[in-house]
Amino acid sequence: MATYKRPDGREYDETRKIEAKVGVVKRADGSAMFSFGSSRAIAAVYGPRQLHPQHLQNPEKCLLRCYYDMLPFSVAERKRPGPSRRSTEISYVTTSALSPVLKLEAFPNAVIDVYILIIEADASTRCAGINAASLALAHAGVPMTELVSAVSIGKIGDAIVADITKEEEDYKIKKDGKEIKAATDIPMAILSRANKLSLLQLDGKVTLDELKEAIALGKKTCKKIVEIQKQALKKVKEE
Ligand code: ADP
Repeated sequence: MATYKRPDGREYDETRKIEAKVGVVKRADGSAMFSFGSSRAIAAVYGPRQLHPQHLQNPEKCLLRCYYDMLPFSVAERKRPGPSRRSTEISYVTTSALSPVLKLEAFPNAVIDVYILIIEADASTRCAGINAASLALAHAGVPMTELVSAVSIGKIGDAIVADITKEEEDYKIKKDGKEIKAATDIPMAILSRANKLSLLQLDGKVTLDELKEAIALGKKTCKKIVEIQKQALKKVKEE
């Protein structure tokens, strides 16, 4: 039995409060908001539309471009505005997490742009962004095999927990009089129907058994998340 206690009193498999809303940016072709507690993302989709300049066009399929960014005051210490190595990496992994469910061959020579903006950040923002983007793509009417759901699983102290916060990501223990980091962040995106992962990152150390446990918890959590995403899509259709 693990002994780690979560600072906000959550169970190991419990996420923060999830909110999902579709249709939050009227001028976009599709849009959505998704949040885990105060980690909140807005996604706006433009397209599919013809790609310019023409030499970038692919006659076999549509190009998917995702752009992730955080508002300067979304974090406690002001984030320098503009792109960074981190935002470039997250934009890249978001594109590859979403691509497997999209029928991009349906739109040759076209482009779909997905803008993800983090309004407030308390860890797991790439996952909130992927969840918002997946909803926004569905809202834009892009043909998809299924929705993508994402969550950050952590090994904090001796426990495997769902949807980690910044405080948990920074968790330290004392060893030989020194403070050492005792947190591993494992963001993942799951295609629940296909039972596949389209994103798996690891920041820290885990054993193979712990990684298997983390993936199992990620799959279980994403089954709940996908139901919330479906409800949000259903709600906008009824409006
Ligand atoms: P994720 O948000 O997907 O967990 P990271 O692990 O890189 O991605 O970041 C963890 C958290 O660290 C962010 O959610 C945010 O709360 C904080 N953070 C990230 N970048 C900055 C920054 N430039 N300034 C202050 N805090 C940041």
